[in-house]
Amino acid sequence: MQLRTRPWLLRAVCLGLLLAFRPAAAQQIKPYRVLLVISNQWKDPASFLVSGGGEFQTLVTLLKSWGVPFDILRLDQVMLDPGQFADIQGSSRYGAIIWDAGAEAKLSPDDELVLREAVEKLHTSLIALGNRIQQPEIQRLAGLRYRSEHMHSSHALVAGDSFILRGLGPDLHQQGPPLIAKQRVQADVTGASILATAGGLPQITERELGNGTSVIWIGGDIDQMLLYQPIRTALRRAIVEAIGYALMKTWTNSIVLTMDDMGNAQNAWLEHWHYPALTERQIRQFIIEPLKAHHAILSLNIVPGFVDDAARRIVPTWKQQFTDQFGTKQDYVSTKKGLDEGIAEGVLEIESHGWTHMQPDLTSPPGPWWGAPVEDERAEVGWYREFYDVRRDREIPAAEQRFHMQQSRDWIKAEFGTEPLEFSTGGNGVSRSWANNTWRIAAEVGYGYYGGYLGKDLAVEGRADSTAEYGGTDDVPLLLPALPDGHDRGIAHDPEDFAKVFDLYPRCSFIGLDEYIGYQHATLATPPGISERLKMTVEYDPHYCRALRAKGSIWDLDVADWLRAELSAKQLWVDGRSSGPIDQELKVVILGAGPNPHVVELR
Ligand SMILES: [Zn+2]
Repeated sequence: MQLRTRPWLLRAVCLGLLLAFRPAAAQQIKPYRVLLVISNQWKDPASFLVSGGGEFQTLVTLLKSWGVPFDILRLDQVMLDPGQFADIQGSSRYGAIIWDAGAEAKLSPDDELVLREAVEKLHTSLIALGNRIQQPEIQRLAGLRYRSEHMHSSHALVAGDSFILRGLGPDLHQQGPPLIAKQRVQADVTGASILATAGGLPQITERELGNGTSVIWIGGDIDQMLLYQPIRTALRRAIVEAIGYALMKTWTNSIVLTMDDMGNAQNAWLEHWHYPALTERQIRQFIIEPLKAHHAILSLNIVPGFVDDAARRIVPTWKQQFTDQFGTKQDYVSTKKGLDEGIAEGVLEIESHGWTHMQPDLTSPPGPWWGAPVEDERAEVGWYREFYDVRRDREIPAAEQRFHMQQSRDWIKAEFGTEPLEFSTGGNGVSRSWANNTWRIAAEVGYGYYGGYLGKDLAVEGRADSTAEYGGTDDVPLLLPALPDGHDRGIAHDPEDFAKVFDLYPRCSFIGLDEYIGYQHATLATPPGISERLKMTVEYDPHYCRALRAKGSIWDLDVADWLRAELSAKQLWVDGRSSGPIDQELKVVILGAGPNPHVVELR
């Protein structure tokens, strides 16, 4: 499609004026912020919900998980404008552009000028991915000529030493799906260094423009390339090379252990999911003690509202003590005591599994569920799903979902003293239309995670089976359902199995969901305007980042070869304390706890 355009002359003059006010400077430190440019991949016209898979959703997930600050520019709605690249002083707003705009994004001569000025005058580096090099101006900037794209069996192989691919080779298509063939982009190099080839053709290239500005192309099959760990790491390092530095989170060997269902009503009413609620003693012996022994945290998705059949209303779960119709004693008061002990020991985190784990409408046909015999309507699992009406096969309206999410949050806060940050639906019952989208509503209510990312800026749908995309890689922690079955049900049947996870993953650290959410929502920034000093601030949001406020945070400061050479005389300072010279590629930055912003700088 043709992009909307503005008169060419006016825009050229505007950018010229902005540039005229830029003072001459020595080596400028680029801003630590990335602009992700896409064409029509964002399916939500309101630019909030990121869903449907594809490389755009992956990129957003990765950038959030790494902690890289970014904005998104969608060319199907927004025209290119100099103001997207320069601030009010005429300084660059971004250290790098990630170009993920497909061939459908045609650039007019004024679009090309804006982009050219951003790279060549404002010194914003550019990283183009896969086949997103089809606009002539992108090819010119990258020093490439695009030819075509066809299936090929070759893997990308490292060619020579480079900062971006150092230590990753020789085969960059490892640690991913063993595909027989993938799309291979064919391009001729007209003025770039070749860092990797595939079947003899250039596949990763870099063109250096001076001033620490480079245009990097990471080629490959746009639908597959990010499935390979070395390519994801190459993208990470391309960001470092493009900006000169980056402060990022690495998740190697991090596991988030989760368990669903404590407090749910299924175990008392659903025949095929029937078991006694866990007691204080079981929780202490089989959950808390092993967690303590391994300095591990377990994130519990719990249900604070219970169906009171006699009163036909939702009542607080943790006051329920009764013998159910199968003759089993259910003691949720005892369960609550166990949870409180685990929280006090610092090994349990309470998250939301909805308000009731039940259908909001328990009355209409084919019900009522209320009062029905246990082997009649009550035996239908559809009644025990809260955010999609599985019994009647229809979505739950947005306002009803919102009410249930708010009730869950408020009741958990009332009974445990903290607001849940993670949200997950019972039985993966979710509504997906835009109006009723469960992820979108959860984000608006204030939850921070449901398998992808939830925030005030946007919501990324995660996989509904609670296995996070790219979980268990350097890029995203492994979300692991606790043994034996990810539910309290498993503990009721096979309590000894829970602790076996620590033998299966001996070198891993078991962090809680709050910690992952905290990193996703930490605000990393450089001061506005041109800077000749590397200085970054890290802020912990009071709501989403409470785990970092409680424990502090650990990051990797990665500095590219070209900038490290210039900064060799400087020392790393963290919150006013010296941490030694920048003499190696990677420096671990440890930031303390508490509400105050942190300052990471070289001086
Ligand atoms: Zn459940």
